[in-house]
Amino acid sequence: MSGFLGFNTRGHFYQCPNGHVYVITECGGAMVESKCPECGCAIGGRDHTLNNTNARAMDFENIGRDEGLADNPFAWGRGA
Ligand SMILES: [Zn+2]
Repeated sequence: MSGFLGFNTRGHFYQCPNGHVYVITECGGAMVESKCPECGCAIGGRDHTLNNTNARAMDFENIGRDEGLADNPFAWGRGA
């Protein structure tokens, strides 16, 4: 098995306003707005800026880091 949950150190975990965890793959930055598949709330963001109703899923981020996931490269994603 390569990578963590099927992606290779290129993705980050976030939560919708209702706490549903989702993953942004590729660079891990929020470039596309979408809807939570669980509740339909807006998720994602634009231009590497996360929708301000969303949050990082730190529990998952920390697990990912243990698995070799790269730190979030964006200023708003730091401060873990
Ligand atoms: Zn949701």
